[in-house]
Amino acid sequence: MNYDAGSYDVIVVGAGHAGCEAALAAARMGCETLMITINLDMVAFMPCNPSIGGPAKGHVVREIDALGGEMGRNIDRTYIQMRMLNTAKGPAVHALRAQADKFLYQHTMKQTMENEPKLSLRQGLVEELIVEDGICKGIITKTGARYFAKAVVVTTGTYLRGKIIMGELMYESGPNNQQPAVKLSHSLREHGLELVRFKTGTPPRVHKDSIDFSQTVIQPGDEKPKFFSFETTEEVPNQLPCWLTYTTEETHKIITDNLHRAPMFSGAIEGTGPRYCPSIEDKIVRFNDKPKHQIFLEPEGRNTSEYYVQGLSTSMPEDVQLDILRSIPGLEKVEMMRTGYAIEYDAVVPTQLKPSLETKVIDSLFTAGQINGTSGYEEAAGQGVMAGINAARKVLGEEAIVLDRSEGYIGVLIDDLVTKGTTEPYRLLTSRAEYRLLLRHDNADQRLTPIGYKIGLIKEARYERFLEKVRLINEEIQRLETTKVKPSEIQELLISIESAEVNNAIELIALLRRPEISYRHIHMMSPSPIALSDEVTEQVEIQIKYAGYIDKQLIQVERLRKMEKKKIPDDIRYNEIYGIATEAKQRLEKIRPLSIGQASRISGVTPADISILLVHLEHYNRVLAARG
Ligand SMILES: Cc1cc2nc3c(=O)[nH]c(=O)nc-3n(C[C@H](O)[C@H](O)[C@H](O)COP(=O)(O)OP(=O)(O)OC[C@H]3O[C@@H](n4cnc5c(N)ncnc54)[C@H](O)[C@@H]3O)c2cc1C
Repeated sequence: MNYDAGSYDVIVVGAGHAGCEAALAAARMGCETLMITINLDMVAFMPCNPSIGGPAKGHVVREIDALGGEMGRNIDRTYIQMRMLNTAKGPAVHALRAQADKFLYQHTMKQTMENEPKLSLRQGLVEELIVEDGICKGIITKTGARYFAKAVVVTTGTYLRGKIIMGELMYESGPNNQQPAVKLSHSLREHGLELVRFKTGTPPRVHKDSIDFSQTVIQPGDEKPKFFSFETTEEVPNQLPCWLTYTTEETHKIITDNLHRAPMFSGAIEGTGPRYCPSIEDKIVRFNDKPKHQIFLEPEGRNTSEYYVQGLSTSMPEDVQLDILRSIPGLEKVEMMRTGYAIEYDAVVPTQLKPSLETKVIDSLFTAGQINGTSGYEEAAGQGVMAGINAARKVLGEEAIVLDRSEGYIGVLIDDLVTKGTTEPYRLLTSRAEYRLLLRHDNADQRLTPIGYKIGLIKEARYERFLEKVRLINEEIQRLETTKVKPSEIQELLISIESAEVNNAIELIALLRRPEISYRHIHMMSPSPIALSDEVTEQVEIQIKYAGYIDKQLIQVERLRKMEKKKIPDDIRYNEIYGIATEAKQRLEKIRPLSIGQASRISGVTPADISILLVHLEHYNRVLAARG
């Protein structure tokens, strides 16, 4: 028997990585928000690797923090190891990666949610959407509770018609034997959303005391860790190491001998899996020339003996998994605590979404996270914060916030999804971003904190700190531009670092442009009159050393923005535009891009089609202007 259980501004379905960000953003922007989720003990649960960050993913976490989201702060409080990757390469690919205490991560996020004034948490399984005249008005739970709202954000991850597969065994389930969300999947389809079947997988977990670490290579964290949040100042003491080992010839033989029992190859798995996160059986088949594959043993937390076997994601039968594990150096006597598995689930075809993540077919319904065809905690959280922001702005009657491809990896991610779609779980990579020199780990605040402040997610005090940092950066760059040093003051240092000697007085900025000279050397030559933080001096160094490349990318961005500004009217009828290719007409009609920029990124739409469209729009605007 259904009953009315309350009205809110925003309802968020699912307390995963997307849902937590969406709910916190909407509540912090002043909306009465309800977070409803299957199990309140599984808030921000990490069903797979106990880590946050890495290339492109780490950038997204910085961007979420710069906008005023929570993931960065949460991992900075709960990490057990922090490492900056790719430090030998340029700043565009420097990426922070943290090993999380996954249980503490959950508890800390839940606490933050419970303490958020305008946010209410409820446990419940959502089974139906309430949709009237094409507008989403609320949800109905398994217990018959009807909750109403002006906007609903669905972030159900890998739970929609979830099915777990381990060898010959298959059963309906969410991750970790949680309840699956079967009826909601039907409700989404009934209301006109097209769904696809995807899959992902996870490796076994093993007991710490059964590992022989002497046969593995220690992987420690950074001595002086950096952080995801621009606000974090304190380290978490006592980092824990990870351990490296490899598969062996015997491992590969066990897998090859049992491929007939592998659901991946027996056809038992219907869903499409992520190419960039393959199972071990997939790796053995696809890269059969490789004699061994890396295996990282990662602790899942400080107060647990569970270790995650990174690199061994599998859906092989349980007995085979045990043989595989025991063929790996260090794991010969291993005790398997949890069996690896694959999970199939329904996802929404993301080309049905506007760049705001609102669905095109149902007004006031937003979706975010794995449900949109992505894979990864960070990709989910990045979408979650944007969906939460835009659900709140919809309720507040304000325009949606859409980040373009030059403002953030979040912009790249969402634009790829809604404009190009995806045929497998989409994972962010630095190679997906054309302006990656602008989208660095270190400058996310300069790109996004002003937006976070404008929408009310970044509070006054933090914004003042940010402005002060920018002021100090600009002042120091100016000082280096205008301060000259004499040869006598610096010659010895130049010789000691094998940098060319100078004959005349030279500006500090010219010296810093030399590859062999760092800001540390500049400080030795001419210390700043005021103490500057590492964050400020890092910015000074990067902005000066990469100025040429950055300027080149900024010119390209100007071109992008010009194309993004050329808006396409909602009521355009592509089928009536003479000269555009049929395939392009079909793609344009399906995606209904908001701008010429977005239209030009749709696969199947050629530059010739775009030129014709531009001419058509010019004529359209002239007629409009003539009508006054
Ligand atoms: C087995 C497995 C392996 C994975 N492997 C990888 C990997 O190798 N690499 C990688 O990058 N990512 C991997 N992932 C994906 C990663 O876990 C997800 O990308 C991430 O958790 C997605 O976050 P989300 O917020 O979209 O969804 P989730 O974290 O799945 O959260 C969804 C939330 O919604 C709730 N919910 C669902 N349906 C309902 C409903 N009807 N009513 C109320 N609440 C509901 C759930 O209880 C849950 O709290 C894996 C996931 C799984 C399950």
